[in-house]
Amino acid sequence: MTYLQCSARHCGTTLDAHDRALACPRCGDLLEVAVKPPALEPSDLKVLWRERRESWEPQDASGVWRFREVLPTYESEIVTLGEGNVPLVRARKSAQWAGVRNLHFKHLGWNPTGSFKDLGMTAGMTEARFLGTKTVACASTGNTAAALAAYAARGGMAARVYLPAGQASANKLAQALDYGAEVVQIAGSFDDALNELLAAADRDLYFLNSINPFRIEGQKTAMFELMEQFGWRAPDFLMVPGGNLGNSSAFGKAFMEMKRFGLIEQVPRMVIVQAEGANPLARLWRSQGVELQAVPEPETVATAIRIGNPRSWKKALEAIEFTGGLVMDVTDEELGEAKEAIGRDGIGCEPASATTLAGIRKLLQARELDREASIAAVLTGHVLKDTDYIIKRQGRNKMREPLTVATL
Ligand SMILES: *Cc1c(COP(=O)(O)O)cnc(C)c1O
Repeated sequence: MTYLQCSARHCGTTLDAHDRALACPRCGDLLEVAVKPPALEPSDLKVLWRERRESWEPQDASGVWRFREVLPTYESEIVTLGEGNVPLVRARKSAQWAGVRNLHFKHLGWNPTGSFKDLGMTAGMTEARFLGTKTVACASTGNTAAALAAYAARGGMAARVYLPAGQASANKLAQALDYGAEVVQIAGSFDDALNELLAAADRDLYFLNSINPFRIEGQKTAMFELMEQFGWRAPDFLMVPGGNLGNSSAFGKAFMEMKRFGLIEQVPRMVIVQAEGANPLARLWRSQGVELQAVPEPETVATAIRIGNPRSWKKALEAIEFTGGLVMDVTDEELGEAKEAIGRDGIGCEPASATTLAGIRKLLQARELDREASIAAVLTGHVLKDTDYIIKRQGRNKMREPLTVATL
C-alpha cells in the first residue's frame, strides 16, 4: 500500500494514501508519497516501461503513467492529455556558447500546455477526481494555472487560479482563460497569491500547488524518462531552474528512488539555478546557513521563477545533498543571452529555462565544471510562453522597418 509521510525524516508521521492534508499535522513540514519497491526486477521494469511506448492505451501512451509501478495506483480512470515522452535534444550551438562539448536539453516545455507542470497535473488531477472534487485551485506565476485549467477541463472539474496581477505573461493568462478557468487576480506577488489561497482553502476546494505531494509524483517521472534516454547511465551534471523548488524536489525524489530500487548506480550532480533577483536558496547555499531567508520583493524577467519564499526548499536542499550538487544564480542579462543561444539551436524556451545554460557557462568559467563533462539541462517552458519578452528584447535589433510597396 502506498501512503503519505512527513518529508522531515525525524518526524515519522504517516497518513492515509488519500489524505487531503497539505502539511504534516504534527510538525507542519511538507508531505510526500511513500513508494514501495516495485515487485519486478529492475531489468524487467526497464523493458516494460519501454514496451509501453508501442501501446495506444492512454495509461501507456502517457510518459507519466507508463512509469506507474512507482506511482500511486488508481482503479478509477486517469486524467491525461498524453503528457511526457519528450525528446532529449543535442544542442551544439548552445554548447558552443557555453564553452562545453556534451550538452543535451530535456525539453519539458514540449508538453501539452507547454511546461513541465503538465507532468504533475496529470497525477494531481487524477487524485482530485478520485476524491470526488468539484473545484480545483492553485496560485501560480502562470504555467501552473494553464496546466491546472487544461487538466481540470479534461477531468470535468471547475478550475480557479490565483495570479499576481500584471505579472503573469499574457500567453499563460490566455491559456488559463481558454481552458475555462476562473481567474482571480491578486494585487501582490506570487507569494501573496499563495498565502491568499491557503487562507481561503476549504473542503470543497482541492489545492494543486506544487506542495501537493501527488503533483511531485508526476513530475518525478521526467527523471525516470531522462535516465532511460541516457541508457540508465547518469550524465555528470543535471541543470534545473529553481523557483518554488517543487521540480527540484521531485527530481531529487526520483533519483533517491531509482537508486534505492536498483535502477541506476550513479546519480548526476544536480545544479539548481535561480535568477539573481529571486535567489533565496542560492543565498542560503552560499552562506551555509540552515534557515531560508525569504527575498521580500523578488524581481526578474523570468516570471516563472519570480518567487521569494519557496515552499519546497528543504526537499530541494536534500536533493542537492543526495546528488552532491550545488545551488547558484544568474543575472537577467546572462539568462537573456543564454536564451538567444537556445533559440539559435532551433529549440527555444521561456526565460526561466535559460537559467540552465547561463549556469553552465558560469560554472565553466568558475572551473566547477569540465568542458568535456556530460550535461543534461532541463528546459521547463516553451518558447511561446512569453512572447512579449522576446519581442521587447530582440525585436529592436532584428526586425527591419516596414517597406512600402514602391521600394520593394
Ligand atoms: C514552474 C516553473 C519553474 C519553476 O519550477 P519550481 O518547481 O517552482 O521550482 C521554472 N520554469 C518554468 C517554465 C516553470 O513553469
